[in-house]
Amino acid sequence: MKTLRVLMVEDREDDMHLLLLHLKRGGYEPTYCRVDTAQAMLEQLRTQQWEIVLADYNMPDFSGLQALKIAQESGLDIPFIIVSGAIGEELAVAAMKAGAHDYLLKDKLARLVPALERALKDAAERKRLRQVEELRSELERELQQAKEQAELANKRKSRVLAFVAHEFKNPLKAIQTFADILEKKDDIASEHRVMINGISMACHHIRSLLDDILDIAPIEAGEIQLDYQTVSLVAVLDEVKVIMQESAKQRHIEMLYENHIGPAYVHLDPRRLRQILINLLSNAIKYTHCEDTVKLCVELTEDNRWLRFRVQDHGPGIPEEELQSLFLDYYRVKNMLSKQNEGLGLGLALVKKLTECHQGEVSVESRLGEGTTFTVCLPKDVITSIDSIPALL
Ligand code: ADP
Repeated sequence: MKTLRVLMVEDREDDMHLLLLHLKRGGYEPTYCRVDTAQAMLEQLRTQQWEIVLADYNMPDFSGLQALKIAQESGLDIPFIIVSGAIGEELAVAAMKAGAHDYLLKDKLARLVPALERALKDAAERKRLRQVEELRSELERELQQAKEQAELANKRKSRVLAFVAHEFKNPLKAIQTFADILEKKDDIASEHRVMINGISMACHHIRSLLDDILDIAPIEAGEIQLDYQTVSLVAVLDEVKVIMQESAKQRHIEMLYENHIGPAYVHLDPRRLRQILINLLSNAIKYTHCEDTVKLCVELTEDNRWLRFRVQDHGPGIPEEELQSLFLDYYRVKNMLSKQNEGLGLGLALVKKLTECHQGEVSVESRLGEGTTFTVCLPKDVITSIDSIPALL
């Protein structure tokens, strides 16, 4: 026998016993209580736990629909079945519309147990769905909290790093200045000159690492301020060329620059654009073979919506599984190339963040053994005038 807690909303004792008889025949051992007023029903719902309500449709001082309303307002989601001596089809439809889970006629109580079992099963399913939903909301809340905490910790880490980087800069500058002074002296032995040169190069390297840390910190803290200016695109590209010249020469790399836009003016933060391009070109030079070529190509996209910068090398390429992590902070590909070239893994993260600050997008294509192309697209609106091809505007 299965236990069942039934609340009977019924004015007649004999009708209640008839229902109980059918339940017992159906294999149930019911615990029950009979109520026939709103007050008594409310009291029962408040003080006891019920698994199902069987309610008569018509009672002298109460009705099945009123009982249904009370059950609904309790918020308990107890299955509710209306049992009636005679119920017209319209009333039955109205009861179901009002939210009753089933209705039965007293002279056809063979349906009682199957109807009750279906209502119980549906209620169990509703409960399960509610629990899943509650669990989902709780997990979402926890996830959101964890995300906020991680973001906060990340911001704190960036601030500490930025502080340390800042504190390092002055002593580093002093070392660099002394190395410069010594280098200019005539009476320096050649082996000492090599050492001084080593000090200068080390200072330069540390300086660029510190600059990356100092640059990324305000972006992560959401405090970056772009210094928008209208500048000549050609002038920016020329500056980049001059800056890249030396490192390309050291590795015997031929630099190719293609500007398909012509003498345009662009409205953006020129220092940041330089930084984007220098980071990509430095990587292309660093991570490619000596005596190779590296190309920077500037053009409009085919759909005429973006100003596109492409930095292309023929280096060893990047494994496909690494591509999606490449732009994460402090991410470095685990291969020989990275080991041979010291770095923090911030260059591409900076490229991505600075591009996004300009409402742009960055992407990468790479094939092992064939080379890598990084593409930075800025909205075409950054171009304020194109002297040579006005038709494009
Ligand atoms: P870093 O150069 O300091 O390691 P980056 O964020 O600039 O940091 O680059 C992340 C990683 O991406 C590098 O460690 C390198 O392995 C890989 N990488 C970047 N550019 C190229 C490239 N052009 N060819 C091959 N690998 C590259």
